[in-house]
Amino acid sequence: RRRKIVAGNWKMNKTVPEALALVRELRGQVASQGDTVEVVVAPPFVALQPLHVALEGAPLALAGQNCHWESSGAFTGEISAPMLAELGCAYVIVGHSERRQYFGDTDEQVNKRAKAVRAAGMTPIICVGETLAERDANQTLAVVERQVRGALEGFEAKDVASFVLAYEPVWAIGTGRNATAAQAQEVHAAIRGLVERLYDGETAGRVRIQYGGSVKPDNAAELLGQPDVDGALVGGASLKAGDFAAIVQAA
Ligand code: 13P
Repeated sequence: RRRKIVAGNWKMNKTVPEALALVRELRGQVASQGDTVEVVVAPPFVALQPLHVALEGAPLALAGQNCHWESSGAFTGEISAPMLAELGCAYVIVGHSERRQYFGDTDEQVNKRAKAVRAAGMTPIICVGETLAERDANQTLAVVERQVRGALEGFEAKDVASFVLAYEPVWAIGTGRNATAAQAQEVHAAIRGLVERLYDGETAGRVRIQYGGSVKPDNAAELLGQPDVDGALVGGASLKAGDFAAIVQAA
């Protein structure tokens, strides 16, 4: 059985003092629970070091929200994967739709970022998902397949088995309009089927697929109860300790 993984993507929210206050609250309410559920927070880069110190020994993992594919060099404003590993990150989100939409991330760049994450000994959380126009044009599965194939290009089965994929329909992000459990399950099953075709049944059985997009305490149990939904990538609701704790509880 796959261990569920619930991650809070804080996006560009929380100053360092606010981030410290939030994890202080979370420590009391939320913890990775043995074999059942793993809990991750992805704060802005500047909060990683203080949270790494504050979370010492806590069952809460840290993630970066993005990284560059080179490990160092003349790339003003960028952060590398080894830098994130050094700050205690276990995961790095790559290919988030906001990166794709606002910063021009391509499938090829997402693949390069994922390779850098792996090479630095961390696990990528690879985000994919269709826009509303693509869903309306019946392109959902084609778009998601292209994104997954692109992101996994050149990886071996043993890598992919440990990866986390996140299905985040763009129309559900920050809109309060989550995918229905049936819509999520359909796409998650298609992604797992694609991993089986690209690799093998064992890899498909092990890769974890999170759902993201307006996950809230009141819809988490149904979404997370689907057979191919292995967790949640939570935006807005991860900024309140009580809401995030309730989502973890539902997993
Ligand atoms: P919301 O939960 O705010 O819709 O954001 C989802 C998301 O983008 C997580 O990465």
